Amino acid sequence: MTYDMNNVFAKILRGEIPNRTIYEDDFVLSFYDINPKAKIHALVIPKGAYINLQDFILHASKQEQEGFWQGLLTVVNKLGLEAAGYRLIFNTGRDSGQEVPHLHAHILAGQKLCDHL
Ligand code: 5GP
Repeated sequence: MTYDMNNVFAKILRGEIPNRTIYEDDFVLSFYDINPKAKIHALVIPKGAYINLQDFILHASKQEQEGFWQGLLTVVNKLGLEAAGYRLIFNTGRDSGQEVPHLHAHILAGQKLCDHL
């Protein structure tokens, strides 16, 4: 599978589609999900062109990988979620229902998330 340069998150990264930015640095962009599934629903995406987590783990540099996890932690802290907690979701591939083929972490928080796995 090759990376689709016209996926919606690639367009957001190029500034072609607006977003409600939470945090940005050299490695990540974080913004609010357009269709929130919880009181707080943030997305964190790497700036590099990676389809999903396995693509990222196999092909991103150590610096990009470190930058992604640090960026994710910064967003958690910026949103003040460490005390109450949060849920991370990485949808990957067809059976997960992944809609956008650019790696993204969903951060769900701000309420009790009762539907345990
Ligand atoms: P997936 O199902 O691929 O894991 O999640 C994709 C997410 O991206 C969905 O929760 C969807 O609401 C969100 N999304 C899709 N298009 C846009 C957009 O243009 N802007 C923002 N902020 N979120 C989007």
